[in-house]
Amino acid sequence: MSAPVKKNERLSVYIEDLTHDGNGVAKVEGYPLFIQGALPNETAEIHVLKTLKNYGFAKVIDIIKPSPDRVEAPCDYFKQCGGCQLQHLSYEGQLKWKENMVRNVMQRIGKIHAPVHPVKGMKEPWHYRNKAQIPFSENEAGQAIAGFYKTKTHSIVDMDRCLIQTGEADAILAGLKKELATLGVRSYNEHTHEGMLRHVVIRKARATGEVMVVLVTKKKKLPQKEAAIAVIQKLVPNVTSIMQNVNSEKTNVIFGDDTINLWGKDVIIDTIGNVRFEISARSFYQVNPEQTEVLYKQALDYADLQGDERVIDAYCGIGTISLFLAQKAKTVMGVEIVPQAIEDAKRNAVLNGFTNTYFEAGPAEEVIPRWYKEGKEADVLVVDPPRKGCDEALLTTILEQRPKRVVYVSCNPATLARDLRILEDGGYQTQEIQPVDMFPHSTHCEAVAWLKLNV
Ligand code: SAH
Repeated sequence: MSAPVKKNERLSVYIEDLTHDGNGVAKVEGYPLFIQGALPNETAEIHVLKTLKNYGFAKVIDIIKPSPDRVEAPCDYFKQCGGCQLQHLSYEGQLKWKENMVRNVMQRIGKIHAPVHPVKGMKEPWHYRNKAQIPFSENEAGQAIAGFYKTKTHSIVDMDRCLIQTGEADAILAGLKKELATLGVRSYNEHTHEGMLRHVVIRKARATGEVMVVLVTKKKKLPQKEAAIAVIQKLVPNVTSIMQNVNSEKTNVIFGDDTINLWGKDVIIDTIGNVRFEISARSFYQVNPEQTEVLYKQALDYADLQGDERVIDAYCGIGTISLFLAQKAKTVMGVEIVPQAIEDAKRNAVLNGFTNTYFEAGPAEEVIPRWYKEGKEADVLVVDPPRKGCDEALLTTILEQRPKRVVYVSCNPATLARDLRILEDGGYQTQEIQPVDMFPHSTHCEAVAWLKLNV
């Protein structure tokens, strides 16, 4: 196909769809154009930026007929910052779009016809993230800047607040960069590898209100440690833990290996439902705990536990779903590839007094077949894989071992649809799919699918 439009051409188009990057999609004689800032059901005048063989890119010059769901993005930094993609779409519009997206993907990719329910969204879809990882740097004048990255770049949009982060993160964003000069701390310049402060990570436990602030520095020696602690305590009066992490490498990875306690406790404690979790500077933890609870309640509901079931939780992370299920199951066995996460899972099981859980580090697709060989069977299997979906060997094991119910928690509808097709072909029936909005204003959507073995 040769492109029916040319670079720099201006034309008026109707927007049919939205991509995973939040760009509108229009077709000109079947040729897709991806258009920054445009929403489905809009007519827009656009400027073609680039044409490739099979698709092109454009930007909006003027919205001729806006979508009824278009709103003014509430955040001043929305157009530059790469954090959110959908603030120009009303929240109801976002939920509707996500519901349709999940349904379309199920039908198109998996030929899955189970009902897809309306997305469970948030009542108050702002300030929901419990972890902010804020890069610090310098502008050309040598002044400290802090904020999030522009889309697909490593340049920081200097900002004083973020509508999806906590107030404590805003206090650090706006306040700390002003104080750095008096503390004798330069922020880090990734081009020259000079300066000290690379990132500040702020974590807040929603249930207990405890806050941890982590300073990620290039060197161990902080020039005025006590003064730095006092500044953080002034900016974030409810801080309960101040940590330092040292990362001396030339890398985009945020954390180094060395974590030091500067003041207060080493961990903060949060709860999801009735289960308590200890969160350290580097431990994995869901970023939207309010919706995590909604997601896990759905998984628990679909697992339909009566108290005598043996459950396997594959891809269990720090055991959040496992411990949630352990409240109602006879036993729960969790497997996860990251050994540190399994250590956290074991610690959290002890913290909560569970004696019916067992955790093992390793690839789910190898560990679970071995468990079966050892006679450790499951009545209910829960999977929560990363974006690429379940390993094929794990799906094969499920089809051979035939647990009665499978609950599939997914962060990627496309791989969910693919895997559900394999499970349906092998003897399962998808009963229903419940999408949950874990990341308002982004294009991401989690979904829980409930499958039963055909009898
Ligand atoms: N269920 C957890 C985490 C889900 S994220 C929660 O709700 O918090 C997916 C997890 O799968 C990650 O922790 C990742 O480390 C893990 N993982 C990736 N590949 C894996 C594999 N082959 N076997 C086991 N775990 C794996």
